[in-house]
Amino acid sequence: MGKSSKDKRDIYYRKAKEEGWRARSAFKLLQLDQQFHLFDGVQRVVDLCAAPGSWSQVLSRELFEKRGIEAGSGKTVAGSTFGGKVVTGESTAQKSSTMEKAKIVSVDLQPMAPIAGVTTIQADITHPQTLKMILDEFGGEPADFVCSDGAPDVTGLHDLDEYTQAQLILSALQLTTQLLRPGGNFVAKIFRGRDIDLMYFQLGLLFEQVTCAKPRSSRGSSLESFIVCQGYKPRSGWSPDLATGVMVNKELPLPISERVVAPFVACGDLSEYDSDATYTLPSGEGVRVSLDPVQSPTCPPYKRAVEMKRKN
Ligand code: SAM
Repeated sequence: MGKSSKDKRDIYYRKAKEEGWRARSAFKLLQLDQQFHLFDGVQRVVDLCAAPGSWSQVLSRELFEKRGIEAGSGKTVAGSTFGGKVVTGESTAQKSSTMEKAKIVSVDLQPMAPIAGVTTIQADITHPQTLKMILDEFGGEPADFVCSDGAPDVTGLHDLDEYTQAQLILSALQLTTQLLRPGGNFVAKIFRGRDIDLMYFQLGLLFEQVTCAKPRSSRGSSLESFIVCQGYKPRSGWSPDLATGVMVNKELPLPISERVVAPFVACGDLSEYDSDATYTLPSGEGVRVSLDPVQSPTCPPYKRAVEMKRKN
C-alpha cells in the first residue's frame, strides 16, 4: 500500500500536501474556525501539542499573512531545561512596528521545524515548568486563544489510553486557566468516552459557552471531537493553581444546579469532502503525481531503528 493509495483513501491527507499543510489536522482547525470565528481579533495564541505544526501554520497564516504582516522566518535556538533539550524558535514578527502584539507560542514534546512567526518550545505540557516558559514568551500578557490537539501515544490498552488522554486535556486546561484572558477561548481535542458529561459540566463552570464540535475532516468513525469553550470566566476570588489541579480545587465549587449539557455541532461546509469517503483520483499519464509530505518528521520514534538497520 503506497502513498498513492492513501491519497485515494484520505482526501484530506492528499489536500494537505497539495495546499502545503504539514498535517491533515489543519483542516480541522480551519473548519472549527468557519463555525466559531476563533481568530477574530486574536493577537496572542498558545498552540499546545503542536507538532508537526499544521495548526501553527494555520495560526501563522491567520495572524500574520492574512493581515498583511511580515512574520519573519522563525528561528530555532537550543536551550536547556528539565529532562533534556528545549528548543525555542523566535519570531521576528514582534519587531514589526505594525503588529507588535501578535505572538504564537507552540509547545510539543517533539521538536518542530520552524514556522514563520511562531515560537516553538519543546516541552511536556504536564510538567509544571512549562507554564513559566510560555508566560516568559508572552512577557506577562495573557493569551486570547489557547488550543490543544494533544494525543498521547496509544498503547492499545483502552482504559489506560482513555486515562492518559483525559490527563492530557486536564493539563491543557490547567495551563489555560493560567494563560487565558477573561473572555478568551479554548479549544481542545477530546475523545467522547463514558465520562465526557462530567468534563462538559466542569468546563461549563469556567466558560460562558461549551460546545462539542465535529469538523467534517475528522473521521465520523472516530470518537474524536473538539470542545470549543468560549468566554473564559474565572470566578471571582478563585485563583487557579497548577499544584492542586483545576478540577479538584476546593475553591471551585461544583453546584449541581449549574449542570451543563454541551450542544453537539457538526462543522465545516456540507459541500466539503467527507473524510470517510474514498475519492477517485484523476488518472492518465502526467495527470497527477503523489506528493511527498510537506514536512518529514524531525525526530520520529523509528529514527534509531532506521539508523541501526543502515549500520547492519
Ligand atoms: N496539531 C498538530 C498539527 O496540526 O500538526 C498535531 C498534533 S498531534 C495529533 C499530537 C501531538 O501531541 C504529538 O505531536 C505529541 O508529541 C503531542 N503530545 C502528546 N503528549 C504531550 C505532552 N505531554 N506534552 C506536549 N506534547 C504532547
